[in-house]
Amino acid sequence: MHFESLGLSPALLRALADQGYNEPTPIQAAAIPVVLEGHDLLASAQTGTGKTAGFSLPMLERLFPNGQRPTSGRPRKPRALVLTPTRELAAQVHDSVRDYSKFLTVYSTTIFGGVGMGNQIQNLRRGVDIVIATPGRLIDHMQQRHIDLSGIEILVLDEADRMLDMGFLPALKRVISAMPQQRQTLLFSATFAPAIKALASQFMHNPKEVEVARANTVVATVSHRVHPVDAERKRDLLLHILAEDSRRQTLVFARTKHGSDKLCKFLNQSGMRSAAIHGNKSQNQRTRALGDFKKGKVDVLVATDIAARGLDIEQLPMVINHDLPMVAEDYVHRIGRTGRAGASGLAVSLVSHEESGLLRDIKKLLKDEIDIAPMEGFEPSQPLRMDAGAPKPRQGGQRQRPNGNKSSHQRRPHTQERKSGGSTQAQAQAQAKRRRRGGSRTRRSPNA
Ligand code: AMP
Repeated sequence: MHFESLGLSPALLRALADQGYNEPTPIQAAAIPVVLEGHDLLASAQTGTGKTAGFSLPMLERLFPNGQRPTSGRPRKPRALVLTPTRELAAQVHDSVRDYSKFLTVYSTTIFGGVGMGNQIQNLRRGVDIVIATPGRLIDHMQQRHIDLSGIEILVLDEADRMLDMGFLPALKRVISAMPQQRQTLLFSATFAPAIKALASQFMHNPKEVEVARANTVVATVSHRVHPVDAERKRDLLLHILAEDSRRQTLVFARTKHGSDKLCKFLNQSGMRSAAIHGNKSQNQRTRALGDFKKGKVDVLVATDIAARGLDIEQLPMVINHDLPMVAEDYVHRIGRTGRAGASGLAVSLVSHEESGLLRDIKKLLKDEIDIAPMEGFEPSQPLRMDAGAPKPRQGGQRQRPNGNKSSHQRRPHTQERKSGGSTQAQAQAQAKRRRRGGSRTRRSPNA
């Protein structure tokens, strides 16, 4: 199939050719016509399979049919809003929208916290067609009447399941209440729990569903390896694996902000060029760490789940989970940073006896066999227990908020940067149980 047959105008086709895209990915082929017909859409496809273009291209086509602006000059109000759970993802989506609209006249801006409001206010005052935002800062602008959402024609929720979970839902409802009922709503994600779909239907009108691969699956280009290891030897094993090829770029996930800092320090002291990214870093530090990693100035990026969603890092051959995520779906998102756009990737997890229960949840979610084998010289003193009674880890750290920020105590309770009061291990277990029973998903993500 060719992009030409999807009904996109020449200006977009030229931009795609410039990007080197020869043909639509399956999610693009399935989603673009549905959006162009004006339907609401719930779209799920695995990580790294081109969802951003899946919504950006038809959004641009609908806002600017045949590449034409409906009115001359800058718009008085934004016409489309894309919401993302993290600032980094908002910036990345904005870059893509700019790439795809380079032969059109489109005014767009990002709105997210951690940076000054001045530029954002100026951009909004001048008039923009498309806003790409995280919910907390967007609400700040709404309260201060810098932005009027009454002209929104298209709302996109990227990483939609996260946007609809408990941490974001109140903010999302507030944003949605400020926009017209008559609009097109597009939800894109790699994971969709049934309860989230039911919730989403409240915000949508007869949505069409497009599912390119079974939800909650990972691309076949990623292979999974688990190394059972004693908790206190994980650092050394990590170093051992990284040292096998020190030029290889690797994203390492740790569970807590403090844990990622400690790990990063240890790796730097051991001669690995490393940086850490998490919600206690300033936005400048976050941007620099991600930028340095993308440019290859550092080889290892140690991250909390803040980096788990949506980030597109070219040529990332390996993701290592130093700690398993507390929620199995997050495994799918974490390892989705590798094996993107058809490239092959390796996901390695270092799993201690205490994390056996988490690994069991992940195996169940993926419905897949994961290669479990100790690394020579790092054999654990206790084997993993994969039966039902296996223990969950003690809450050494709490689940990381996606857009966590050190000044969370200063923030309003409805923002994604909120401290939720801390989810305990018992909460995580109860929640996993509820989900297994098919009950409603009430993920309360604590702020580490
Ligand atoms: P996404 O899932 O939107 O983050 O996209 C994953 C990667 O695939 C990005 O690097 C995109 O630039 C790339 N990509 C998206 N669509 C296509 C396409 N049709 N052909 C080739 N690469 C693509």
